[in-house]
Amino acid sequence: SIAYLNGTYLPLEEARISPLDRGFLFGDGIYEVIPYYNRKPVGFAPHMQRMINGLAALEIKCNKSIDEWRELLDALIAKNDGDNFGVYVHVSRGADTKRFHAYPENVEPTVFAFAFGIKDPEPVDRATVHPYTVSSTQDLRWKRCNIKSTALLGNVMHFQQGYASGNNEILLYNDKNELTEGSSCNAFIVKDGVVITPIEDNQILPGITRRIIIDSLKADGSIPVEERTVTMDEVRNADEIWITSSSKEIAPVVKLDGNPVGNGEVGPVWEAAFRIYTDRKFDF
Ligand code: PMP
Repeated sequence: SIAYLNGTYLPLEEARISPLDRGFLFGDGIYEVIPYYNRKPVGFAPHMQRMINGLAALEIKCNKSIDEWRELLDALIAKNDGDNFGVYVHVSRGADTKRFHAYPENVEPTVFAFAFGIKDPEPVDRATVHPYTVSSTQDLRWKRCNIKSTALLGNVMHFQQGYASGNNEILLYNDKNELTEGSSCNAFIVKDGVVITPIEDNQILPGITRRIIIDSLKADGSIPVEERTVTMDEVRNADEIWITSSSKEIAPVVKLDGNPVGNGEVGPVWEAAFRIYTDRKFDF
């Protein structure tokens, strides 16, 4: 596939960076993954706004506007074959001449992007969708999970914990037994027809899929949504659990720590909400 690196489009296998790049040495960078279905992005502006916010938090000076990102990434898509992509975009602080923790002056950020193929969306059909199973564990990541940092070791270790126990994901909870999110996704529960998800704070990534779901459900009006604290007791007694991200959209979870979620089948609110999301996702 064709990638983008610092102003040039080139085959991905030929892209090279310095080992002194602070992204490599410190995980000192910000990334995004934007989904494209039928070559059209979902949530382009909010994705790139989140990246701009992350770069500002790290004081990385990359001054591309959302429109400039759009041009750069549309050109990348145009050079690649396929219908559905995840577009990975990464800006690290760049390569210094030495290894020293303080932010260096006058270093050019490294800007990298590539597109990878993703599957067609799942069917909006509770009988045939592929369900997920998850485990759970205490969230041992840092206290700035709202920053989409390339330093993902905490997330990677948690994901591996879930994967090694035979599950597709792992739900995380804080030291007050409150749900935060998954290791690579946000989490929702459904109880008595109400859709509930943890508030946006420093304990979770402000997911774009999460936001699109909340805003679409509110615009539609037929399913109530709440953003509030969710305890793990509520998660374990939920009728439905969903996990959401740009690559999995809204994935229904049928098992938590080996126990069935609700009646163990994909639920009706998942199907209704996924229909509403699917009908509106290209408006974001
Ligand atoms: N939380 C974490 C920790 C993530 O890594 C991701 C994205 N992979 C999400 C939530 C979901 O965010 P988005 O919907 O913007 O993909």
